[in-house]
Amino acid sequence: MIKNIQIAIDGPSGAGKSTVAKRLAQKLNYDYIDTGAMYRAFALKLILNGYNSANIDDSIISKLIDSADIDFHEGNILLDGENVETKIRNEKIGILASDLSALKIVRDALVDKQRKIARSKSVIMDGRDIGTVVLKNADLKIYLTADPYTRAKRRYIDLLDSGVKTSLEETLDQILKRDYNDMNRKHSPLKKADDAIKLDTTNLNLDETVAKIIEILEEKINVL
Ligand code: C5P
Repeated sequence: MIKNIQIAIDGPSGAGKSTVAKRLAQKLNYDYIDTGAMYRAFALKLILNGYNSANIDDSIISKLIDSADIDFHEGNILLDGENVETKIRNEKIGILASDLSALKIVRDALVDKQRKIARSKSVIMDGRDIGTVVLKNADLKIYLTADPYTRAKRRYIDLLDSGVKTSLEETLDQILKRDYNDMNRKHSPLKKADDAIKLDTTNLNLDETVAKIIEILEEKINVL
């Protein structure tokens, strides 16, 4: 039987995880699981139900997380059967997702779904806690990072491309706030797993980053 391979990619916002993971998944013919999209989809569910960070409480969250149907179809995130891929890609949802991701009840439910998805196929999963919590036995763990200014610049260009008006300063502020939230929360804070390989992409472009990970993978496991 051919062994399923699990690759975990963690790191802070704007390090390029999702672009790199998507490209790797294409090259290796693995499924790409964007766990950030799952937290974002749950944030969207709250908003669609008339809630925001100011008016939610534990009982609403626990009711909604139990009833939320969050899944993927052909690489797109589905919320209650609807493709919400474009609706979740904005800063308002990103910040609410980051707040919600600090709650144990939300993490437990989504981590459970993530493990189920990863069980039966070769996957590349990206997020904040994949190497430390979700796929502790992943075949390869990468901790992708870059300096905050570089990450903000990349995020700023993406936002401009998608028609969002913002400034580089505001984008940098949001990146730093998100880093702080993700690294300092009580449950599953963002940190490099002891057995993860750290890759700093400050001076690497997409092709160089992907090539580097494939080189590491080839050294580690003979799957290509
Ligand atoms: O990666 P992305 O920006 O889409 O993730 C949105 C938010 O979801 C992050 O800021 C982070 O707080 C949270 N998240 C998480 N654990 C993951 C993936 C994302 O806490 N595995």
